[in-house]
Amino acid sequence: MKIEVDYERCEGHGMCEAVAPALFSLDDDDQLTYHAEGADVPDEGLAAARTAIASCPVAALRQIDGGRGA
Ligand code: SF4
Repeated sequence: MKIEVDYERCEGHGMCEAVAPALFSLDDDDQLTYHAEGADVPDEGLAAARTAIASCPVAALRQIDGGRGA
């Protein structure tokens, strides 16, 4: 599956980084970087990715396709 990040909506709460640090990181200014931008989430990251989507308090993360392993 892929994740689309709505950077306009993201408020830098960091829940995604907390549950999926391999996929998301915030810099010192709370700017989010999504490390699998445009790519499928690696199989080993699927569970954490789904948790991150569910955890985001402003719904800035969206699953955009089922894809392999979803
Ligand atoms: S949990 Fe949501 S609001 Fe917080 S940094 Fe991640 S995408 Fe942004």
